[in-house]
Amino acid sequence: MRATDHIQDMAAAIQKLTEKGFTYESDGSIYFRIASFPGYGKLSHADFSGIRAGVRVEADRYEKDDARDFALWKALKPGEPGWDTVIGRGRPGWHIECSVMAMKYLGATLDIHAGGVDLTFPHHENEIAQSEALSGKPFSRFWLHAEHLILSGEVMSKSLGNFITLRDVLAQGYRPEAIRYLLTSVPYRKKLNFTADSLPSAETAVERLRNFKLRLETDKYAEGVNQSLIERTQQATTRFEEALDDDLNTAEALAAAFELVRDANSAMDAGGFLASNVAPALEFLRRFDAIFDVLRPTQQESGLGDAQVEALIEERNQARQTRNFARSDEIRKQLLEQGVVLEDTKEGTRWKRK
Ligand SMILES: [Zn+2]
Repeated sequence: MRATDHIQDMAAAIQKLTEKGFTYESDGSIYFRIASFPGYGKLSHADFSGIRAGVRVEADRYEKDDARDFALWKALKPGEPGWDTVIGRGRPGWHIECSVMAMKYLGATLDIHAGGVDLTFPHHENEIAQSEALSGKPFSRFWLHAEHLILSGEVMSKSLGNFITLRDVLAQGYRPEAIRYLLTSVPYRKKLNFTADSLPSAETAVERLRNFKLRLETDKYAEGVNQSLIERTQQATTRFEEALDDDLNTAEALAAAFELVRDANSAMDAGGFLASNVAPALEFLRRFDAIFDVLRPTQQESGLGDAQVEALIEERNQARQTRNFARSDEIRKQLLEQGVVLEDTKEGTRWKRK
């Protein structure tokens, strides 16, 4: 869906705003008059005390009545693309396309409007002003402002040249589910610092969850039920739901899942995990995966990628450190079945493909 296919809709919206008295014209451009919209600032609670209304200011080469006023429609500078519309020839300002297109396809009031944290002011504030001035209804019930992705300490941006693409990391052999896991592992209001370790540890985490599920589905357990584990599973479910209800605290939800996996694995190792504990644990994973969606492979996997091999070796090392030799042998066997041979040396574990 292209903004340039909606220029006439934008012009019609600006005409309507003008009829309602929310705009003024200056040097051939049309501005939204902030003073005509008393709710301005309710989203960002920005401090406008330094900006005086009624003072003519020059910004963006055009004269405005108030520094906060923003262009709805711009007069053309030489060489700029323009469109012929009911309000004349020109081009739309930056903000109007969002309001017009969102309301055209989603209705006057949106359930959730998301965006980067840097867009709160002025962009989203301006969207609210235009949209609510047009419709007379609340523009969005909820706003989700996501923090930036940080690449080794710096904001990832095209202009700085320090960005990586999804295609890059997939080409390095990382599974889509590990990437999804990593991106959801930090709550959306916190900065995610992407480092060289991020994806390998996400691979390990996903692998750990999948192994637990496999263990539930394939191991044999003695008949009966371990009541304290049933309670433990219920506790984890409650904590998981409450974390997500708390402004999508995904880190806390994941912690609830991993602590349950840890406790259940220990119970399995000690023979305390019984047949009737399987179904509730699987139900927890089903609920977990309805949100995080990392347990099933998204794409057909053709053998293990390098990152997955490394993640399994890392898990095997941890198993050996805790003297869980059953698990470490299981991983060696799993890798061998995928054509990966391990060799333990003084320097650590080496591996090669058969
Ligand atoms: Zn927008």
